[in-house]
Amino acid sequence: MADLVLRRARVADDAEPVDIAVSDGIITAVEPALRCRSAAEIDCAARVVIPGLIEPHVHLDKALLATQAVAPDDTLAGAIAVTGELKRGFTATDVAARARRVLDQAIVHGTTALRAHPDVDPIVGLLGVDVLVDLRAEYRGLIDLQIVAFPQEGILRAPGTLELLRAALRRGADVIGGCSYNEADVADCERHVDLVFELAAEFDVPVDIHADFADDATDPRFAMADYIATATERAGLGGRVAIGHVTSLAGRPPGERRATMARLAEAGVAVVPLPATDMHLGGRADETAVRRGIAPVRELWAAGVTTAYSSNNIRNAFTPYGNADLLDIGLFLAQTGHLGSPADLRRVLAMATTEAAALLGIGDRHGIRVGARADLVVLGTHRVADALLDRPDRCYVVKAGRIVARTTRTTEILRPAPVR
Ligand SMILES: [Zn+2]
Repeated sequence: MADLVLRRARVADDAEPVDIAVSDGIITAVEPALRCRSAAEIDCAARVVIPGLIEPHVHLDKALLATQAVAPDDTLAGAIAVTGELKRGFTATDVAARARRVLDQAIVHGTTALRAHPDVDPIVGLLGVDVLVDLRAEYRGLIDLQIVAFPQEGILRAPGTLELLRAALRRGADVIGGCSYNEADVADCERHVDLVFELAAEFDVPVDIHADFADDATDPRFAMADYIATATERAGLGGRVAIGHVTSLAGRPPGERRATMARLAEAGVAVVPLPATDMHLGGRADETAVRRGIAPVRELWAAGVTTAYSSNNIRNAFTPYGNADLLDIGLFLAQTGHLGSPADLRRVLAMATTEAAALLGIGDRHGIRVGARADLVVLGTHRVADALLDRPDRCYVVKAGRIVARTTRTTEILRPAPVR
C-alpha cells in the first residue's frame, strides 16, 4: 500500500501517461495503470508532472526592498550601495518576514529546494545567516534550504569579513560564497578567490561565487572565470563549484569565450545565469543596440558546462521584478537567449530541475524515477513542451511525498446569449 499515487501523469510527450507511487517520501513505482492501493491519490488527468523545481541562487535576506529604495542609476554599483545602506537597518524580524514571503511564493510555484546567499559582512554580520539557519529548520518538509555565506561587500575591501565567513560556516552555512568582482584590483580579486577556496578546504564545503558581472571583460576584475576554473582543478573540487552571472562571456569575442567555456567544462564549474538581474543592470551605458548581457546559454550547453538559472533577487535595487517563479524566469531566459525550439525549451526546463539538482549536489535523489525522493509538481498543462510557454498553474506541489501546496482556479468565458 502506497502513501500516495499520482494517476495518469504525463512525464514525456512521446509516451502514455504513467502512475507514480510514493512510500515514505520515495518514488516506488513509475508505470502505466499501476495496480496498487494507496492512502491518497491525485488524478493528474494526463496533466504534466515534473520533478521539483530548484532555485540555485536567491538572496532571501535582501528580497522585497524595492518599496524602500531603488538604485538611482540602475547599475550594479548603485544597487550594492543603496542596499548596503538599507542593510544597516535590518533586524532579524524584518529579514525573516521578507524571507518567509519569498519562500512561500517559491513553494506555491513548485520549488522544492533553494540555495540562498545571505550577505556576510561587517554591516550585517551574521544576521542573515542566523535567520536562515532558523528558517531552514522551520521550513523542513516544505522546501530544502542550502545557505551560502556570501561576502557581497568583498573580503579584502571589507576587513573582518574573512573571520565572519569562518563563523558563518561554523554556525551552519552549507556553502562558501564569493563576490570576486567586488575588490579594488585584479590581484585582490585573485586573492579573494584563493581565500574562498581555502575556506572550502578548511570546512569541506562547495563553492558558489558571483563572478564576471559586467557587460564585457575589458576590466580584468570581471574576467575571473578562467582563474576560478584553475582554482577548482587545483583544489580537486570539480562538480562542487558554481559561478553566477558570468555575463562577461556574452560580450567577449567568440574564440575567447569558447576557450573559457571549455576550461569551465573541463574543470567541472557550473554556470548560473541570472537573467532578470543580468538584463536589468546590464547594458546601461549602451545608447543603441543595448546588450542583453546574459551568458550565452546555447554555447555553454555545446561546451558541456552544467548550467542552471535562478531568480537571484526578488524586487530590490538589483532586480525590481520577480515572484520566485522558476517557470517565469525560464521563459524569460528562453526569450532573451534565443532558445525557442521545443528541444531548447525542454533543456531550459532541465536547467531548473535535473541540472540544478546536480549543481546543488542532490542529483542522486532527484527526478521522476524509482528510488528518487518524491519532489513532484503537477502542472496545469498537458504537454511537457508547453511547461514554460503556458505559464501553467502548479496544481499540486509534492515535497518528499506530501502535498505541500495546491492551486485551484476556474476560468470561463461568459459568452453573450445568442440573439434569436
Ligand atoms: Zn546573486
